[in-house]
Amino acid sequence: MLAAGEREPDLDENRIEIMIAGGKRLRTWREINAITRYPQVSIRSFIMSLFHITRESQIPLVGCIYFGVVDRGSSLLQIRPSCGCNLSCPFCSVDAGPHSRSRVMDYQVELDYLMEAVEEIAPFKGPGVECHIDSPGEPMLYPDIVPLVRHLKAIKEVGVVSMQSNGTLLSDEKIAALAEAGLDRINLSIHSLQPEKAAFLAGMPGFDIERIKQAAARIAGSSIDLLIAPVLVPGVNDEDMPELIRFAQEIGAGKKWPPLGIQKYEHYRLGRSPGKVKAQNWWQFYNRSIAEWEKQFSIPLRLRPQDFGIEKRPAIPTVFEKKEKTWVEIKAPGWVSGEQLGMAKNRVVSVMDCPVEQGSVRVQIVSNKHNIYVAVPC
Ligand code: SF4
Repeated sequence: MLAAGEREPDLDENRIEIMIAGGKRLRTWREINAITRYPQVSIRSFIMSLFHITRESQIPLVGCIYFGVVDRGSSLLQIRPSCGCNLSCPFCSVDAGPHSRSRVMDYQVELDYLMEAVEEIAPFKGPGVECHIDSPGEPMLYPDIVPLVRHLKAIKEVGVVSMQSNGTLLSDEKIAALAEAGLDRINLSIHSLQPEKAAFLAGMPGFDIERIKQAAARIAGSSIDLLIAPVLVPGVNDEDMPELIRFAQEIGAGKKWPPLGIQKYEHYRLGRSPGKVKAQNWWQFYNRSIAEWEKQFSIPLRLRPQDFGIEKRPAIPTVFEKKEKTWVEIKAPGWVSGEQLGMAKNRVVSVMDCPVEQGSVRVQIVSNKHNIYVAVPC
């Protein structure tokens, strides 16, 4: 209880703020109280804590799937400046967005700190790097998205800067600013052109597919290339694909790269699944779905890394072997309940079921794939 005249501290004194659906940020208790005083608002589904990753935080930018730089051993680097989302797609593989049941924290990396990391890694990867901004969420929620594109494009080794987006925040002005900053391609998620089904697949009743179609046409007419990237959810939007292919062809998507990248729906343990949808295997996906549309529209839909100029390159060296035991220093709360983010050997280590929220903890590495470290206490 506060004494008379005393005031709650602002949240950002602890580098934490609250982000609500639509990307608005709440930085003080007064702002939070104003929005949560309505009994009909479910706070859990409405707010998400936001943790700022700054240089001072000393949290490394390699080792974590949620933010920083992910190198999977090719000429493509995944750049993850933030991980919040403003949609709640019922098939979301990472259970992101306002209706998430498992996420308790989002992260946002300071622009200069992120750039330092990319500038250090890019020379190791060599010329012709593609930087793909693909946070596990909506990258347009990152407040410095335009300067990020501009800075990435200025790195000597970087040939292509691309970005994924759900399109909801791509106004005409933003598209023009991204084009001017040097963005080469947007992979735009559109899963159906039918208003009701599009809203269902966005997990948002008020979702306006017409606005997304306008943004798509605007991108295709700009210097930015457009790739439409629907997720094929079996039994839900199969029959929407031909219409989407026609739309992509009509508006001129795929000026330099393929116009469509249809993605296979996968079921993940922590992801969401609409009803009883069963994932196809790769044979079914290619031969029962994709092959027919390839023939019908004379368009390549079975995409390979070579279609994007992506080649194999040495990966940043891993620093922990699987089953290795080590001490990590806890630096931040995890993305899911019970998880904490630790640091050791200049890498983030995600510690599941972590018994402490600060200090050191002894852990065993259970996964080190692509320099992404997951560990359990031991
Ligand atoms: S699928 Fe993409 S746009 Fe949809 S909720 Fe997940 S992160 Fe957001």
